[in-house]
Amino acid sequence: MKVLVINAGSSSLKYQLYDMRDESVLASGRVERIGMDSSIVTHEPADKPEVRQVSEILDHVTAVKRVAEMLTHPEHGALTHMNEIEAVGHRVVHGGEAFSSSVLVTQEVKLEIRRLFDLAPLHNPAHMMGITAVETNMPDVPQAVVFDTAFHQTMPNTSYLYPIPTVLYRRHKIRRYGFHGTSHSYVSGQAADYLEKPIESLKMITCHIGNGASCAAILGGKSFDTSMGMTPLEGLMMGTRSGDLDPAIVPFVMNKEELTLNEVNSMLNKHSGMLAVSGISSDMREVTEAMHEGDKNAKLAFDMYTYRLKKYIGAYAAAMNGLDTLVFTAGVGENSVALRKAVCEGITFLGIDLDEERNEERRKDVREISKISSRVKVLVVPTNEELLIARDTYNLVKKSKTS
Ligand code: ADP
Repeated sequence: MKVLVINAGSSSLKYQLYDMRDESVLASGRVERIGMDSSIVTHEPADKPEVRQVSEILDHVTAVKRVAEMLTHPEHGALTHMNEIEAVGHRVVHGGEAFSSSVLVTQEVKLEIRRLFDLAPLHNPAHMMGITAVETNMPDVPQAVVFDTAFHQTMPNTSYLYPIPTVLYRRHKIRRYGFHGTSHSYVSGQAADYLEKPIESLKMITCHIGNGASCAAILGGKSFDTSMGMTPLEGLMMGTRSGDLDPAIVPFVMNKEELTLNEVNSMLNKHSGMLAVSGISSDMREVTEAMHEGDKNAKLAFDMYTYRLKKYIGAYAAAMNGLDTLVFTAGVGENSVALRKAVCEGITFLGIDLDEERNEERRKDVREISKISSRVKVLVVPTNEELLIARDTYNLVKKSKTS
C-alpha cells in the first residue's frame, strides 16, 4: 500500500510518500508561500535530483493538485497514476479530549476538529484545509488523522489539571494537553525495542528538543506528564518561546509597556526564549558557536536552556519515583553534543553517567551514549513523526478494508 503523509500549515504543505511494504520513502517535498505571490514547490524524489518550481498557488486545493502533478510526473515522479495512493494521513496538532488515538476521517471527526479551532487557532484550521483539499483532489481515497495531543491523553488528572477555578475546565476545557505526542510515542517505542525490554516495565523521560521543545514522563509506555500545556508555550525554554514563567508577568508587562493581548502573546511565542536571552538567534547551532567564541549572552542563553531542561528531568524522575531510560530526540536533541553533555552533567545522583566519547559520535541510528555502568540508559533516538503517521494510517485503512 502507498500512503501519502501530509502536514498542512496555513501557508505551507509538507508531504511524504511511503511504500508501506518496506516503509521506504518514495518522494517527499513541500509547498511554501501558499496564497502569496511566487509560491515554491520543492520536490525530492528518492534517488533523483531535487526539483524546484515557482508559480502561483492561491489555496490548498491547488497545492495538493501540484503535489499530485509532481508525484506522477514522467521524469521526477514516483507514481504512474495517483490512484496508486491508497490512503492519506494528516498531522493534526490538537485533538482535545475527543481523540486519544488516530482515527479515519469522517463527517463527525471533521466536525470535532472544527470544534477544536479555538484551542489551536493557528494550526487546526490549516489542517482542515489540507483534509478538504485532499477530498477535492482525491475524493475516493480514505484519510486518517494523527493528533499531536493523542498520546498524552493517558495523563492522570493530577498532571493535566491546572490549579485554577474548575469552572474554567468545565466551560472552556482549559487543561494540559501536551504536544509532540507522535514523536514521544515513536521514540519511546524505539528506545524500548533497542533495549530489548517490554515498554510496560520502563520509566522513561523523552526530551524532544527542536525549535519547539517538550519532555515527557512515560511510565510503562504511557504518557504520565508532559511539559507543554494547553498550548505549546508552557514548559521548557525554547528557540523563540519563553516556556514556564510567573503568569503575573503577563498583566504586569501589558500594563507597563501598554501592550495588547496579541502583542504580549507574540512576545512570549516569537520573541522570547533563546532568541531573547542570547540576542543572537533562536538557532542552537548559532548560539553554541557564539558561546564558544566567548559571547556572554549566548552562554547565558545556553546555560538557562540546559538548566531548565535538567530541572524537568529531576521533576519527572520524582513524579515517576524512578527513572531507567533518558531519551534525546529532534534537531537539538539528536545533534547537539554540548546540550546533552550540559544536561547530563551533575545528575549522576539519578544514576545518569554520560560517556563523553559515545556522546560525541555522530550517527543517524538509535544509539546509547551512557557508560556501560550507568544505571539509567541514556539514548539518542532519531524521531520520525511522518513514519508513525504513515503506519497509523496504513493500519486504520487496512483494518477498515478487512472489517
Ligand atoms: P522543529 O521544531 O522546527 O521541527 P527541529 O527538530 O528541526 O525543529 O530542530 C531545529 C533545531 O535543531 C535548531 O535550533 C537547530 O539549530 C538545531 N540543530 C540542528 N542541527 C544541529 C547541530 N548539528 N547542532 C546543534 N543544534 C542543531
